[in-house]
Amino acid sequence: MNNSIYDESRVLDSYPIIVIGAGLGGLGAACQLASVGKKVLLLEKHNVPGGFASSFVRGRFEFDSALHELSDIGTENNKGSLYRFLERLGVIPEKIQFKQIPEFYRSIFMDGYDVTIPIGLEEYTEKLIELFPSEKKGIEDFLDMCQKVLEGIQFMIKMRGQYSPAEMLKEHPWLIRVSGITLSELFRKFFTNKRLISVIAHLWGYLGVPPSRLNAYAYVAMIITFLKWGAAYPVGRSHALTTSMVKAFEELGGEIRFNALVNRIIVEDGRVKGVELLNGDIYKCQAAISNVNPICTTMKMLPKEVVPESYIKKIYAPEVGPSAFSVYLGLNASYKDLGIHAHEMTISESDDMDKAYETFGKIDPPKYLVAGCYNHVYNDISPPGTAELCITTLQMGKLWHNVPPDQYHKVKDYLADKMVELIEKTICPNIRDYIEVAEAATPLTYYRYSKNMDGAIYGYTQDLLDGPNLRLKSRGPIPGLYQCGAWTNIGGGFSGSILSGRIAAGMFLKDNKEGRW
Ligand SMILES: Cc1cc2nc3c(=O)[nH]c(=O)nc-3n(C[C@H](O)[C@H](O)[C@H](O)COP(=O)(O)OP(=O)(O)OC[C@H]3O[C@@H](n4cnc5c(N)ncnc54)[C@H](O)[C@@H]3O)c2cc1C
Repeated sequence: MNNSIYDESRVLDSYPIIVIGAGLGGLGAACQLASVGKKVLLLEKHNVPGGFASSFVRGRFEFDSALHELSDIGTENNKGSLYRFLERLGVIPEKIQFKQIPEFYRSIFMDGYDVTIPIGLEEYTEKLIELFPSEKKGIEDFLDMCQKVLEGIQFMIKMRGQYSPAEMLKEHPWLIRVSGITLSELFRKFFTNKRLISVIAHLWGYLGVPPSRLNAYAYVAMIITFLKWGAAYPVGRSHALTTSMVKAFEELGGEIRFNALVNRIIVEDGRVKGVELLNGDIYKCQAAISNVNPICTTMKMLPKEVVPESYIKKIYAPEVGPSAFSVYLGLNASYKDLGIHAHEMTISESDDMDKAYETFGKIDPPKYLVAGCYNHVYNDISPPGTAELCITTLQMGKLWHNVPPDQYHKVKDYLADKMVELIEKTICPNIRDYIEVAEAATPLTYYRYSKNMDGAIYGYTQDLLDGPNLRLKSRGPIPGLYQCGAWTNIGGGFSGSILSGRIAAGMFLKDNKEGRW
């Protein structure tokens, strides 16, 4: 069938704009558009919203499939930008509540080093100085620099791109500097103590690349956001966040259709004209925002002949980032009885994060993982007298293409066992005695539910060449097509993905207003 022709008899309705995929980016875009009065249709292939941001039930436990710590929320008296957005939509306070996580993270190394790092700029600074007194000046200068980067970010947001590079360089030089170096290079400017560097860098798994490759801007922006607005967790898990966004979207007049897999984007005269579902239903539109990863959107959903070669190079140039391997444990003992005294625990074999990263590309025992025990802040998350522990390491999705189907369960069990072994050696020696339910998810699981390339959970790798400022932008390869989600704009994670949707919606509204197409 010629791609520019569609069957008129299958057209169900027409919308100014359609959003494809109800992951966090798609929800952010759809809610933003509905909040300014646009008629929007949101199409989701699954029967629930959220993409990665979801939950599932095993036995008497309901597990969050992704979220460990949510940034950019804050409190009523100290609102982060995500709080303000959700408040404007009517999500906060009516539809959801958040619990503040009392500490930042517990940083554990296999040599027995084990410290709990507090949240809040002052508390964090004091703790680091207490632990590493000889590095006091470097710690203070580092955190001063982080705040200057935050001022630069706030300036960029306020100016909405209306500033010159010279002005930025003059007013916010640190923002420019950190964008062009790796996190390791940045650390060398402030610190000498290896363990201090490891403790500060211990959340690098949240961005998927080790400090030697990680864009320093991405990490500094993440850390300072957590320190200023705290870390939060939604009551009712990620699922409550996404369902309350859907509710708000519908109250604002938006329409959502589940079990609606978009198979192709209809293009006529070089621009978006509609979308066709797998079952042949067609919705016409003037523009579409895709929350489906840009490679799949471009190469599978668009007709080949409309995509410029230069755009194809752009989407294939950055490296696809890691997926995850997780073990979800339902434990028949309370977190207190298990001796778990923090919400989020980062565990490393040693200070060598590059070595840890190497294990992401092998079926080898992991050398880095994070373990979240939600009961610590939210005891009702599991039945009385029980606890949930979600252990996650990262894995390159490509590796799993080579696992033969008849070996899949064996490999999965092997890795899950090695992860639990690390927990036994560091946090809870007798944890196996209390496991009532155990489930593991591999990159193939994450691919199956999200349809992201190789199951990537943060989109492209956030290395030096693909930091938040350099990522693929929202405008797609043809007029009327926009991208959002972890792969675009500032990158993955909950708040970054929601924000990318808001940015894509803003671009559509601007282009529409200016009659760009
Ligand atoms: C184990 C794990 C732990 C994590 N921990 C954290 C954390 O603590 N903090 C944090 O901030 N982030 C965390 N993340 C990362 C975060 O979850 C993701 O970066 C973010 O959810 C990505 O959102 P997205 O907008 O890119 O959408 P995705 O989640 O990729 O969703 C895309 C949506 O599009 C739909 N879709 C795909 N194809 C089609 C189609 N053809 N038609 C219609 N719909 C389609 C999918 O069903 C899905 O709903 C974690 C992720 C995982 C897996």
